[in-house]
Amino acid sequence: MNSKNIAHDEGLSAYPHPDGHRQAAQLELRHVSKRYPGQREPAIGDLSFTVPAGEVCVLVGPSGSGKTTAMRLINRMVPLSGGDILLGGRSVLDREPRELRREIGYVIQQIGLFPHQTVAENIATVPRLLGWPRERVQKRVQELLVLIDLDPGEMASRYPAQLSGGQRQRVGVARALAADPPLMLMDEPFGAIDPINRMKLQDEFLALQQKVKKTVVFVTHDIDEAIKMGDRIAILREGGVLAQYDTPRAILARPADDFVAQFVGADRGIKRLSLTTLAEIRLLAPDGRAPSRTLPERASVKDALSMLLTAHGEPLGVLDGDQEVKGLVTLSHLERLIAEEADGDEGETAQERPAADGRAEAAEAQTGAEA
Ligand code: ADP
Ligand code: MG
Repeated sequence: MNSKNIAHDEGLSAYPHPDGHRQAAQLELRHVSKRYPGQREPAIGDLSFTVPAGEVCVLVGPSGSGKTTAMRLINRMVPLSGGDILLGGRSVLDREPRELRREIGYVIQQIGLFPHQTVAENIATVPRLLGWPRERVQKRVQELLVLIDLDPGEMASRYPAQLSGGQRQRVGVARALAADPPLMLMDEPFGAIDPINRMKLQDEFLALQQKVKKTVVFVTHDIDEAIKMGDRIAILREGGVLAQYDTPRAILARPADDFVAQFVGADRGIKRLSLTTLAEIRLLAPDGRAPSRTLPERASVKDALSMLLTAHGEPLGVLDGDQEVKGLVTLSHLERLIAEEADGDEGETAQERPAADGRAEAAEAQTGAEA
């Protein structure tokens, strides 16, 4: 692994990032196992994977597959039975658990804000524990409230009961980010939120992650959420067995086995289309007429497909950033592209796959190492 990904091998507090953010740290699970006292089968048998610094890894799997256990092993809320976990190249076993946890943001469903503390006090929890000076804590709280899109003047002095579920969850994220931890653990963070607000929180978190670029382990049992949130997805099955670890695209294109294929769903073809934008595909040339229906090029191929299904054969205009019609798509054109891609996949081995943004290669190296 690239040594520049390893940000914190000599301890974290000594390395504030030049732009005010700490760098994210690489996380590596090495042959991790966990057997709870009195349980016949281990909750996790032998789990290994690496999350490169600054990426979101989604742990997904059925209930009881060991997702929460894996998270709690990372921050030592649960003791390891075997193996090791390295954060920034350093074993978590060498760290004092409390000190370690202050460097790992933790967000859970039903967030567990302190009910008798204000929003500002909740967010300030870890900075205060770390003994930051008062002004620095206040400045950080303001900054975080802005970052999560809550008006500091209005929200800082409210109590958790005076917030909506979505607002509480945002405050939970802000609290976890407060001391700028190199790693965030998020265990079904949006699980209790209604679908519309959940989608909003997902989008907001992705936008936030663009800014803070933390290493994130995000747990969900919802494959759609995993596909949306993950740079990589680790699919677990019972016993904490890693069924597949790869990018969402690769998992949808090539599920490792029947379990994964079933888990991602029979509609994985459609799900793949939701990951491809209209900017990424070959368009038909505009024919000079103004199309009656249009989509921006950042919309997904899936969006285009569903619009075309009710378009009575009319082509759909694809708009560039200047709202100009850049090209057209029709149902038969999409069909052709999908067929071409399916043909391309058949003979394609993992090695031949283009390293889209340099990540595919690293993913391969890791999945290979674990097989
Ligand atoms: P998930 O988060 O994927 O639903 P968990 O990590 O909570 O899975 O649980 C994995 C397995 O470990 C389950 O079989 C569960 O019953 C067991 N388990 C979890 N926590 C404990 C515990 N504190 N004591 C005993 N068994 C546990
Ligand atoms: Mg769980």
